[in-house]
Amino acid sequence: MIKYLDLQKINASFEPALSDALLRVSRSGWYLHGEATARFEQEFADFCGTAHCIGTGNGLDALTLIFLAYRELGVMNAGDEVIVPANTYIATILSILHAGLKPVLCEPLPETCNIDVIHAETLITQRTRAILPVHLYGRLADMQGVYDLAARYGLKIVEDAAQAHGAIYDKVLPGKEKQLLRAGNLSDAAAFSFYPAKNLGALGDGGAITTHDTSLAAIVRFIANYGSTEKYVHLYQGINSRLDELQAAVLSVKLPRLDKDNVRRREIAQLYKENIHWKYPKLQCTVSTEDIKESNVFHIFPVFSPRRDELQHYLTAHNIHSQIHYPIPPHRQKALIQEYGMQQLPITEHIHNEELSLPISPLLTNEEVGQVIDCINSFV
Ligand SMILES: *Cc1c(COP(=O)(O)O)cnc(C)c1O
Repeated sequence: MIKYLDLQKINASFEPALSDALLRVSRSGWYLHGEATARFEQEFADFCGTAHCIGTGNGLDALTLIFLAYRELGVMNAGDEVIVPANTYIATILSILHAGLKPVLCEPLPETCNIDVIHAETLITQRTRAILPVHLYGRLADMQGVYDLAARYGLKIVEDAAQAHGAIYDKVLPGKEKQLLRAGNLSDAAAFSFYPAKNLGALGDGGAITTHDTSLAAIVRFIANYGSTEKYVHLYQGINSRLDELQAAVLSVKLPRLDKDNVRRREIAQLYKENIHWKYPKLQCTVSTEDIKESNVFHIFPVFSPRRDELQHYLTAHNIHSQIHYPIPPHRQKALIQEYGMQQLPITEHIHNEELSLPISPLLTNEEVGQVIDCINSFV
């Protein structure tokens, strides 16, 4: 059987270092706001190339905290608008709502599934304060286009980098010439999730914010700690959101292998791209051979077909597990339908109707990848 993502196997491959790290924290007697968290924050800031990294309880909190901090700074006020791609995991959109702001849903480009800046520009109003690109499936969004838009309309850029740990942008951003910039360093502030299935995953929940903005970083830290600037002194109506010592220690063990794992993900993507019989009608790949480069860390390898459900059942019958990211788009969810259900988002709906994610664990063998390819080719 080929699992979609064998987390047991992935985490076992970090032994014995992983268990040593857990035991060290367990025996230390210190479980929150300690050395392991401070160390991982420094390591992850260095990795991303940002001045600051602040650990959080999860990816949703990381996004929400960025917007709450901008509210405290007076950069954004209740009801201000944030442009966000409609075809994302619902957390991206919920973070805006949780901060008292208004999500404005934007269509993606069908070729990349990432935000379409031309459509985004048509959505800008007097109240637009930020644009929130999501690097969906591990592929960096058109950040040149996003920068241009943000500069022309005076918008903040907040990155949802929850699927793109380690991705390196291959184009030049204004004011950042000659630098290779990673996800998390392509915006005013970025949010990561360390949910176990992400490219860098904890053994439970975890998240982080990366930014160069020192005042934003400070306020995020206060808000994440009950709005407290010093013990028992509360300046803001904060929340409680912490990356704990155990998860931080786990992430410090796993971070040094992230680039290598991402290289292996690209190798698998290359095998899929070259060997699946795309020429048959009705099976589509949005990844071109030129797209298999460092700006894509293949958190997900998506294929598209109007026979998606049939293909998924066929794969399952042959012991190959796949997933759908995501079966119901956010604007069609009961939670959001009143506000957004009437909106016409045909590209988003097409993606949600046809997407199927193939197994892409960095620990898959070439033989296993070959089995997936043969099975798909026998279906079409
Ligand atoms: C996983 C994910 C999140 C949320 O992260 P959690 O840690 O589960 O809260 C947000 N946005 C995207 C695009 C994600 O994939």
